[in-house]
Amino acid sequence: MVASQNGWPRVAASGGLQTLPWITGRVLPGDVWTIMDHLCRRFDAEVETIRKDWSWGWDDRGVIGGTELSNHASATAIDVNAPDHPISARGTFTPAQVKAIETILEDFNGVIKWGGHYVKRADEMHFEIDVLPTDPKVAALAAQIRSITAPAVVVPMPVPSLSDEQVTRILAAIKAVPFATANVPIKYTAGDVSWIQEDANNAAALRVVQRQNRELTQQLAALHSAIPAMCKQAVLDALAVSTIITTTTIGGKP
Ligand SMILES: [Zn+2]
Repeated sequence: MVASQNGWPRVAASGGLQTLPWITGRVLPGDVWTIMDHLCRRFDAEVETIRKDWSWGWDDRGVIGGTELSNHASATAIDVNAPDHPISARGTFTPAQVKAIETILEDFNGVIKWGGHYVKRADEMHFEIDVLPTDPKVAALAAQIRSITAPAVVVPMPVPSLSDEQVTRILAAIKAVPFATANVPIKYTAGDVSWIQEDANNAAALRVVQRQNRELTQQLAALHSAIPAMCKQAVLDALAVSTIITTTTIGGKP
């Protein structure tokens, strides 16, 4: 078996290779494709925009100026924005871009090597698989990428739990609003009409409850408009608490 520089087998024809949307060219399907695709996605987002017509992959050739088979020949290397980062040139990326590249490489766990790190001749357009085909790091990295790029599962937002400090602030805000009904015991729920109508006194009590519910609703609305100065989370918490207060205050038969 003829292997390229990094130990991956030579691919003599492009038929079994897979196009990569970021480049004009192909790479090895499967784990290598997943890794190269994610590398391009992050390079495009964090280093510079990729020009597809300036970027390529598989090429069955030897190393330029050498005798070994290029990793492009095993479809495990890509060149990105080649005209801006010509072979042999150093410093074609800003220090901030180099830092961004190195951050990406760290996240790729040593599986990818950047041509800008070549000691002899620089090749800053170039990225390649830097471990053997048998190295389990390849499959592990690809699996990790697939897991983080899978569609997010939407779960309902739980009601946030309150810290003691949040409770203190919310209670202070609530106390600041005058509650006319605060000392009036409210005994009936709004759904108890038939039961209450058995007794004229209870009917009167129902009217009281209805009026108090209206007032309470207005006061809660006033409370909500009075607290925008509180942080967003605290407002959400206050709404949750006011719901509990409403339920507690007007709920339950005597
Ligand atoms: Zn290259």
